[in-house]
Amino acid sequence: MEHTSYIELSRSALQNNFEYLKQTVGDSCAISHVVKGNAYGHGIDTYVPLAYDLGARHFSTFDAQEALEVHKVTNGTTTIMIMGMITNHQLQWAVENEIHFFVFEMDRLQKAMETARKVGKKAHVHIELETGMNRTGFEKNNWQNLRDFIKDHSEYIELEAFCTHYAGAENIANFIRVRDQYKRFKEGIKYMNKGGLRAKALHSACSAATIRFPKSRMDLVRIGILQYGFWPSMETYITTVQPQNMEHEDPLRRVISWKSQVMSIKQVKQGDFIGYGNSYLATSNMKVASVPVGYSHGFSRSLSNQGRVLVRGQRMSVIGIVNMNVMMLDVTELENVEKGDEVVLIGNQGDMSISVSSFSDYSDQLNYELLTRLPHDIPRIIVS
Ligand SMILES: *Cc1c(COP(=O)(O)O)cnc(C)c1O
Repeated sequence: MEHTSYIELSRSALQNNFEYLKQTVGDSCAISHVVKGNAYGHGIDTYVPLAYDLGARHFSTFDAQEALEVHKVTNGTTTIMIMGMITNHQLQWAVENEIHFFVFEMDRLQKAMETARKVGKKAHVHIELETGMNRTGFEKNNWQNLRDFIKDHSEYIELEAFCTHYAGAENIANFIRVRDQYKRFKEGIKYMNKGGLRAKALHSACSAATIRFPKSRMDLVRIGILQYGFWPSMETYITTVQPQNMEHEDPLRRVISWKSQVMSIKQVKQGDFIGYGNSYLATSNMKVASVPVGYSHGFSRSLSNQGRVLVRGQRMSVIGIVNMNVMMLDVTELENVEKGDEVVLIGNQGDMSISVSSFSDYSDQLNYELLTRLPHDIPRIIVS
């Protein structure tokens, strides 16, 4: 079945981003490619094999289901790390397939140990320490228990890493909190080491921390948004790319494009309302194009009367309310516009470009949110 829109992933853009990341973190630091949220909307099934082809050998997911998808498309040839949810039931699959997973409470550690004993293989655990995010992680008052338990069960537990996660490294307003987290993480590691417990690696940095706080990189960085060619925030972009130098170009390239086509064109008379209700009034005679993409396809309703897309190399405005499956554009200025013309929702056309972030500015959504809302069933194809 043909879909009403499709997504392109650019191989050369991804290669560029990988090179930038490698150059940034250096040889002594590994990169885990975070592919939760269906690879930030890029599609695990398409994105992961492409990333693998370009050298990626470590992937992070939120849950076990995503890990299973990554495992399928990589045939067990990469390290896969689950950073969030895994049920006791899924633990067995994880241990059998040497999937790494975060452990942030004693209950899971106990179950991991029991599962490893049952399966006859070690559990590959990354121990998450609570340092101030207050989401998941072992509290300080548990550290002694934790240390003793791991030491007592080293036969079943492979201590891959100590890790933590910062509460908003993309925003300087959180600097003190992030700095304190870094200190507490160091303190935790020191405590463990003193008691004779060492992990194979340490990791704490997401994209923003990797860029802003080089010390947070340690042995491995968990990179999500940057690999796809987006900055975690405007602030990280500006502080990294140095706007004093106006010629300094963005070192990242957007991997994703999202395209559809003109479904139909009609003339509307001055004084008529366009679309549902009366949110858009034609103040002159107009030509209107409908595009078969709406909020059910991930084009947010909050882009009503605000969104911009590209047709025939020019920016066109979304007019009226974005419907479930359709949006409308004012194409009055486009003389030769035809049914079937390409419509770019994200990406380039001619010299023009629509980025997810400009999109997000209009709708007040973060890059992260808009990307991950792109439905799973839109076809993803790889282009050069
Ligand atoms: C999502 C996530 C990351 C990656 O975040 P980016 O900002 O996209 O780089 C890293 N670590 C953890 C624990 C995460 O949940």
